[in-house]
Amino acid sequence: LPPRPDLDLASLVRTIPDFPKPGIQFRDITTLIGDAAGFSETVRRLCTLAAVHRPDFIVAVEARGFLFGAAMATAMGLGVVPVRKAGKLPGVTIGVDYELEYGVDRLELHEGAVMPGHRVVLVDDLLATGGTILATAALMRNAGAEVAAALFVIDLPDLGGSRRLADAGLACETLIA
Ligand code: AMP
Repeated sequence: LPPRPDLDLASLVRTIPDFPKPGIQFRDITTLIGDAAGFSETVRRLCTLAAVHRPDFIVAVEARGFLFGAAMATAMGLGVVPVRKAGKLPGVTIGVDYELEYGVDRLELHEGAVMPGHRVVLVDDLLATGGTILATAALMRNAGAEVAAALFVIDLPDLGGSRRLADAGLACETLIA
């Protein structure tokens, strides 16, 4: 599809109150990706941001990050590396535990999926507290890869993620704030 620099991507994202629990304003990107022009333009803008960093791989975070990361990778002629919740990847994995509001969670990466010296760009649909993407960045560093940047469709700046990433020295860009 042709570029649509005029397109207001925010207008295609739907907010669903009290999902998955009371008090959460859930930003639903299914309406954005269900719109052909909206999805195409979202991927194009993410690719423009990613290309500056000349990555060797796009690293996509489960689950909505897969949608954007896979589309970016094919458009850029790159492979995509999935980072998944514990127990989903079939091969030998390396993992990292990270704090949630209540308890801990674990993200995993296939051993050998990225190698020392590779430059990667991380992508997810949304930046909230930053916990997920900082854990993903830690996984990449443990594997020896260099994280050039983290890209998001949506930032919720009130939740402090962009500040935490800046404090951690992780470059971060978002399409919608
Ligand atoms: P965080 O680790 O706090 O930055 O949370 C980011 C992850 O949780 C992303 O993978 C998002 O898909 C998801 N997430 C967190 N808050 C929301 C929200 N309000 N709406 C949609 N997804 C969210």
